[in-house]
Amino acid sequence: MNDDNSRDLYDRALSVMPGGVNSAVRAAIEPYPFFVQKGDGGHVIDADGNRYVDWVMGLGPLLLGHDLPEEVRAGIQRNASEGPMYGAPTEIEVDLAEFVVRHVPSVEKIRFVNSGTEATTSAVRLARGHTGRNKIVVMQGGYHGAQESTLVEGDADERGPSSAGIPVSFSDHTIPVPFNDEDAVREVFEEHGDDIAAVLTEPILGNNGIVHPVPGYHEFLREITDEYGSLLIFDEVITGFRVGGLGCAQSELDVTPDLTTFGKIIGGGFPVGAIGGKAEIMEGLTPAGDVFQAGTFSGHPVTMAAGLETLKFAAENDVYEHVDGLGDRLRSGLSDIVADQAPSYTVAGTASMFKVIFTRENPGTGALEGESEFGCVQDPDSPRYEYAPKNAADVSAAETDRWRRVFWGQMKERGIFLSQNQFECQFVSYAHTEADVEETLEAYKEAL
Ligand SMILES: *Cc1c(COP(=O)(O)O)cnc(C)c1O
Repeated sequence: MNDDNSRDLYDRALSVMPGGVNSAVRAAIEPYPFFVQKGDGGHVIDADGNRYVDWVMGLGPLLLGHDLPEEVRAGIQRNASEGPMYGAPTEIEVDLAEFVVRHVPSVEKIRFVNSGTEATTSAVRLARGHTGRNKIVVMQGGYHGAQESTLVEGDADERGPSSAGIPVSFSDHTIPVPFNDEDAVREVFEEHGDDIAAVLTEPILGNNGIVHPVPGYHEFLREITDEYGSLLIFDEVITGFRVGGLGCAQSELDVTPDLTTFGKIIGGGFPVGAIGGKAEIMEGLTPAGDVFQAGTFSGHPVTMAAGLETLKFAAENDVYEHVDGLGDRLRSGLSDIVADQAPSYTVAGTASMFKVIFTRENPGTGALEGESEFGCVQDPDSPRYEYAPKNAADVSAAETDRWRRVFWGQMKERGIFLSQNQFECQFVSYAHTEADVEETLEAYKEAL
C-alpha cells in the first residue's frame, strides 16, 4: 500500500503543527497517520488513493456516513449560502431545540455550544452554580473533553491533574471513582456529600474500550445524587442519538438525569455541543440566570441545519434499524471469531458501537456455552460476566500495545480503518453495507 503522499503531508504538518495534528489521538498511528482525501458512503479514500471501510466515522458524529442525504445537504447549503452566521438568533436554532426537547424526555430546555468540551465545561459550571457546591464526581476512564475540571487522574484518596498546565486546585474539586463501583461512590458521598455538586458520567464508557454499566449502577447513581441533593449529569456526547435512538441512552436505561451534555451527532458532522435538562436548572444560565455562558458561534445556522436534518432523516427512515442491525451482525460475527481464535478477548458494544477489547484473562473454554448472544453486555447470567471489563483499569490491563502497534496496521493493510487505539470506540453508519461487514469480519479473522 503506497502512502507517499500521507508521509509527505505529515512531514509538512510536523513543521507547523504540534505533533503534526490538530487533535492528539490522530497521531496515535505509527509511524504516521494517513491523510484523508475524501469520504464515500461508508468508506474513506486517503491522500494516496487507498480506500478503506471507515468504522471511525469522525470518531462519532457521522450517523449517516459520508454521503449526506439530499435533505441534509440542502439544509447545509441553504444556511451556508444565505450568510454563515449573524450574532443574532435564527429560526433553525428553535427548530432543533424543539426537536430535541420533543424526543429526549429529560430535556426541557437546551443551550447549544460548539463542542462537547464546551458542553461539559458549562454543565459543570451550571451544576456548581445551581447547588452552590464545588465538588464533582467523575468516572476513571470517562472522557468529558479537554477541560480543566475533568482532566484528572488517581482516585478519591490520591489524585491530581492528568495534564500539565492544570492547577492542582482543579483536581481538589474533582473526585474520580472506578466505573461500576457503588461502594466507591457511597464512600465519597459519605465523606464529601454536602460538597458534591454533581456526578458526571457517560452512560456507557465510549472512550475507554466501551465499558457497559452493570445492572442497577445508574439507578444507584440516580438515588444517591437525589439523597444528597447533587445533580446527575449524563455525558451523552457519544451515546446521544446513537444508543436508544432519538431518546438517547437515558431512555434505554430508563434513568432520568438532571442535565445531559450532547455533541457529535447532534451537529450532523459540524462543530457542536449542547447542554439540556430540567427547565428549573437550565434557567440558571445567563441571561435567564447568573451562571455565565456565551459563544460567538453557538447555535451556528449551518450546524443547526446539519443537526436538524440529520435527526429528522433518522426519525423518518430506517436509520437506527440499519445501523443497529449491522452492529449486531458485527458483534455476533466478532464473537464467533474471538471464541475461535482469541478466547480471552472481549467483544463490546451495543446499538451501532463496537470494539474488540484485547483482554488477557482466558476463561479457557473457547466458545462459552450460554454466552449472551453477542458476548458484549454485562449480563450476570453469562459465564463471561466476570471477565467483561467493568472499569478503566480492566481495559488498561488489556494488550493495548498489541492493539495499536500490531493489530491496527494489520487491519489497515486489509483496507479497514479502525479507531486509533484500544480505547476509542468504533461506529456503524447508515452508509455501511452487509458487504462492508463481511469484508471487515474476514479482515479480523486474518489479523487477530
Ligand atoms: C468526544 C467527547 C467529548 C468531547 O467533545 P469534543 O467535541 O471533542 O470537545 C466529551 N464527552 C464525550 C463522552 C465524548 O465522547
